[in-house]
Amino acid sequence: MKVSLVKALLSQRCPTCREGKMFKTSSFNLHFMEMNEKCPHCQIMLEPEPGFYQGAMYVGYAFSVGIVVTVSLLVMILGIDSPWVSIGIVSLITLLLVPFNFRYSRVLFLYMFGGLRYRE
Ligand SMILES: [Zn+2]
Repeated sequence: MKVSLVKALLSQRCPTCREGKMFKTSSFNLHFMEMNEKCPHCQIMLEPEPGFYQGAMYVGYAFSVGIVVTVSLLVMILGIDSPWVSIGIVSLITLLLVPFNFRYSRVLFLYMFGGLRYRE
């Protein structure tokens, strides 16, 4: 069965088979950072080289900037005047989105620079 690229990326699947999960637990688990070393479905290495995911920090940084800007605009639109309340809301939402930021930055980095191609 052919799985689309977008669906595989959003469901954090292996870029090669688009079936195996890249992470061991759900995003809502405290161990959200633990990745599978190999794809549980096709056994391909999910870390192409040691330290590969250090580059994902740049993707995560871009995601963080996007989150902070979006939430700040929403806070402004809602008319919240107090700077401390605004900073608190932006910080809280950014912190709550850390698991998604962490995971999707790694998934996107692997899909873009991992050199893994889809094989049915
Ligand atoms: Zn796989």
